Amino acid sequence: MSRRNTSHLLRSRTILYAVLLVSSVALLTFVFFRQKPLEYYDRTEYLLGTYVTVRVSSSKMSPVTLAEAAMAEMERIDDKFGSRSNGVIAELNRSGELHDIDKETSFLIKSALEIARNTSGAFDPTLYELTKLWGFDDESSEKRIPSEKEIEEALGSTGFSRITFVEESQYVSLADGAMLDLGAIAKGYAVDMAIAKIKALDDGATGFIDAGGDIGVIGPKYGSRPWIVGVRDPRGESVQDVIEYIYLYDGAVATSGDYERFFIEDNVRYHHILDPETGYPSRNGVISATVIGKSAMLADAYATAAFVTGMEPGVTFLPRFGALVLLVMEDMSTFKSPGFEVYQER
Ligand code: ADP
Ligand code: MG
Repeated sequence: MSRRNTSHLLRSRTILYAVLLVSSVALLTFVFFRQKPLEYYDRTEYLLGTYVTVRVSSSKMSPVTLAEAAMAEMERIDDKFGSRSNGVIAELNRSGELHDIDKETSFLIKSALEIARNTSGAFDPTLYELTKLWGFDDESSEKRIPSEKEIEEALGSTGFSRITFVEESQYVSLADGAMLDLGAIAKGYAVDMAIAKIKALDDGATGFIDAGGDIGVIGPKYGSRPWIVGVRDPRGESVQDVIEYIYLYDGAVATSGDYERFFIEDNVRYHHILDPETGYPSRNGVISATVIGKSAMLADAYATAAFVTGMEPGVTFLPRFGALVLLVMEDMSTFKSPGFEVYQER
């Protein structure tokens, strides 16, 4: 073998080893550093008087940790703002006034009052006395039609004008024995806060939280696709019966319906969303109201308001406050705010 041949062989061998080395390093890098495909973790718990589902995914940390943090946050809010718990609202209802209220309580009361004003009282956070009379305050309460006299009396201690709230002096008081009930807004607020908790742990986390029909988006599916939300058929057998679809990349949607808490007597359905003017379940042909909003708190509160205001001014007026409305009527016809359909396209 000539010397030229030997050196040629040596050189090609070196090249071969170099290629092998580079490709194995590349392969190992790919195997170790490639992004794991995003998987969604689901967790459902009974919280806030309903089933709450957190669906979350993270490329940074365990989604179990994120879901647990979200659940803990919602539990904290339920305890703090529930009318039946031992939190700040229960305390206010016992004493009739509170000094030195904290920032969060202040924010929630302020928001509730603002929505009450914006909806001319269709949303009213002082109906606790009435809600108790009808037995809608608790799953286990006896549901019954109160007498006219009872309703008349209860109306004497309801109405948001009975709330005095002075933000600067951190003061709130209730006149005429009024009692605060944040049941139509606190669930949405809890969803917002739980999402904020998740985002604080991992800003890039995606998913959604569904608290019994109050849904807030953590982030788009796989980072780029919308979450498909079904609007329930109010007379359907289950949540699977859907009449319309909404595609959400962010923000929130909430539905208030007459099928959630109700009883039927003499073929009449009595449900938990009350008309603050009459003290009776709101009866204007609406059987469900769905609102798309910037936050779950706003969607939640405006959905209750839209249920009470109905077509006019609900569908037409509420978009001013960032609330797009879909109403389902008794005859199953539907009405939508202008712009609602934008969320019905992928
Ligand atoms: P759900 O809790 O079924 O999602 P809502 O968000 O509409 O329903 O809240 C209904 C609850 O709010 C009632 O159970 C009661 O505590 C309270 N509520 C009833 N009527 C009104 C009203 N007109 N405005 C504000 N809160 C109301
Ligand atoms: Mg609501």
